[in-house]
Amino acid sequence: MSKTIPIVNATAPAGVSTAIEGDGMGCHAGGEKMLAAAKASGKSEVLAQYAKDYPLDPKAGPHDQPQSMCPAFGSLRVSLRMRRTATILSGSACCVYGLTFTSHFYGAKRSVGYVPFNSESLVTGKLFEDIREAVYKEADPANYDAIVIINLCVPTASGVPLQLLPKDINGVRIIGIDVPGFGVPTHAEAKDVLAGAMLKFAREEVLAGPVQAPRTGRSDKPTVTLIGEMFPADPVIIGRMLEPMGLAAGPVVPTREWRELYAALDCAVVGAIHPFYTASIREFEAAGRPIVGSAPVGHDGTEAWLQAIGNAANVPQAKIDMVKNIMLPAIKGGLARMPIKGRITLSGYEGSELLVARLLVESGADLRYVGTACPRTVWSEPDCQWLEAHGVHVQYRASLEQDLAAMHEWKPDLAIGTTPVVQMAKEMSIPGLYFTNLISARPLMGPAGAGSLAQVINAAIGNKARFDEMKAFFGEAGTGHATGVWESAHGVPQDRPEFKAETRRLLEKQAKKRKAEAMI
Ligand code: SF4
Repeated sequence: MSKTIPIVNATAPAGVSTAIEGDGMGCHAGGEKMLAAAKASGKSEVLAQYAKDYPLDPKAGPHDQPQSMCPAFGSLRVSLRMRRTATILSGSACCVYGLTFTSHFYGAKRSVGYVPFNSESLVTGKLFEDIREAVYKEADPANYDAIVIINLCVPTASGVPLQLLPKDINGVRIIGIDVPGFGVPTHAEAKDVLAGAMLKFAREEVLAGPVQAPRTGRSDKPTVTLIGEMFPADPVIIGRMLEPMGLAAGPVVPTREWRELYAALDCAVVGAIHPFYTASIREFEAAGRPIVGSAPVGHDGTEAWLQAIGNAANVPQAKIDMVKNIMLPAIKGGLARMPIKGRITLSGYEGSELLVARLLVESGADLRYVGTACPRTVWSEPDCQWLEAHGVHVQYRASLEQDLAAMHEWKPDLAIGTTPVVQMAKEMSIPGLYFTNLISARPLMGPAGAGSLAQVINAAIGNKARFDEMKAFFGEAGTGHATGVWESAHGVPQDRPEFKAETRRLLEKQAKKRKAEAMI
């Protein structure tokens, strides 16, 4: 069974080793070095594709990029939510610990497989042998449709060749993907890495012959496949809006089952509700499906989306108008009944930030800034243009520093954002709401979305007085270098500006030295 796989031979550029020295390197070790090692280890092609699919500003400095959780979490989450799918991680133990912890924190009820390694098994190619053995052991068609193996940073940088695994073992599909933090910028885009890989596999199966029908049978109407993880009620609401146009809501990608991939490809139109699924969209385009960007949010968004979907699916204008005449007044009424009053800044890394922003503006909020960790794509262009026309600054690939700067500048009544943004807001006595847990976990689409955010947002804005009271009560206790609760009898930590200045001086010296070396 065991077959020795040669280590990919590549000439390393001067000063760069092909394998990572030890397994202690990770996201803290510097992306550039790992990127160079990965390219030298035979991963150039996949990394070039990622650079195209998930672009970063080439001029961006170390802080001019989104700070997101480990990107591999996106792929892991997609895999763990699929029926009859096993997931195996290949990476450093600390990464795997963090990823499994997070996935179980978010409610995964499945085990995550792990193939451990050490420096020796990494550089001798034994790790690949171990992965291969693990995949063969797991590949039981009675239990699984597919096995997903995810190379994390260190195995990707060392060139562990998952592409050499068999595509199929006993009828179980084997999907090997590289999801390094230095190649995939956000966990949102990592969802696309796996969804795209699965769609590609499924599309090739469709081309090769008959495939399984969906569990509930094929729809008798042309369907609209929806891309992006949504609140569970949203696809149902969209389905109700599509029905009078003679269409039906198709599967949501990432799908929850392998056979849904075929149904997703078997659609009339694709709605790129979340606009960053570049690899998935490539597969739909290869299958000849038209793609429609944006989403049915608020009055204007729903109006434009229904029209675009209707046009793409050749629905007669009279039918499109009929649906608009029912839906749009209902949405307007919902928005007017539940207005939002107050200035807001908004940021997140889910990819739905611009949609939420549109809903806030139509609800009457004074929204000044929306930052998203995701890149600019044509599929979010209508949202970006609409927001800019309504005076909102849109920041793609927003970094934490940009999100915080917007909050400092606009002094909002409410900051919606990621954990560090909300933490800073609270420190400034500004009410804050977490985007992921509190905002993106609500219906946003059509009539159900209109007004759905008002209650939680108005309640949060109304809490401002409590923050002021707390701030007054605690004063300056426990801030800055003396964060924590201290008693003077036992000593309060002293600030040491001279140490910080010395560290800064050393770092600048080191940076200058590196720059000078790079020029030689
Ligand atoms: S796999 Fe994730 S946690 Fe591990 S080094 Fe890469 S980015 Fe960091």
